[in-house]
Amino acid sequence: CGIVGVVGKPARDIILKGLTNLEYRGYDSAGIYLNDLKGHEYLTKAVGRIRDLKNKMTPDEQGLVGIGHTRWATHGKSTVANAHPQFDETHRFYLVHNGVIENYTQLREKYLKGVDFKSETDTEVAVQLISKIARDKNIDGFTAFKEALKLIKGSYAFLLIDNTKPDHVYIAKNKSPMRLGLGKGFNIIASDAVSVLDQTKTFVDLNDGDVGDITKDNYTIETIDGKKVTRKPYVLHMDA
Ligand code: GLU
Repeated sequence: CGIVGVVGKPARDIILKGLTNLEYRGYDSAGIYLNDLKGHEYLTKAVGRIRDLKNKMTPDEQGLVGIGHTRWATHGKSTVANAHPQFDETHRFYLVHNGVIENYTQLREKYLKGVDFKSETDTEVAVQLISKIARDKNIDGFTAFKEALKLIKGSYAFLLIDNTKPDHVYIAKNKSPMRLGLGKGFNIIASDAVSVLDQTKTFVDLNDGDVGDITKDNYTIETIDGKKVTRKPYVLHMDA
């Protein structure tokens, strides 16, 4: 299982290549969400190999922002509906997730009664929760994300896109691997650095509990409680 996110650069091929490089982590299905920042978005999911995912996409399905995922099913069978990105019932938020949400049954019962679920995954509970909080409290997507993270227990590497603010990728890490790679005019997030070494050699390590707001020219990292933290970039010396 692996994740790759790109903001600020044609994202599709970078994500597909990154996911292919992450194949060693194992997976049963894969998916990608792309947004061209001109009002078009593309969601594609497939059971099987990255090649199968690629074959489902037409050449014009491109984006300047995107998130991709390879899934190692823990909650729900290996199906297209259970593949990530998972989305909420208003089709506003798209989420990829590596890890396990331990309290997803309780979250669903306490906060999400009456919500129309399309998958059997623990991950969908997280994205529906973010959406519900954003609507009920009338707050922006990033704030809703942090509110949801206060309620979610378990392990996660999350990449979230709010399509009302599609030039941002929101990230969170707890006990699942995630690195932030810095480029000129773009930024990239992946499960490991090696999978995206052809894009950048400058990385930022994230700690458990870190939450981030990534745009093409900037990144901010804070704790779930909103305290800003500084994570120093470094250059990875390694032959690609
Ligand atoms: N628990 C999630 C699921 O089963 C994510 C699995 C993964 O890490 O790929 O959908």
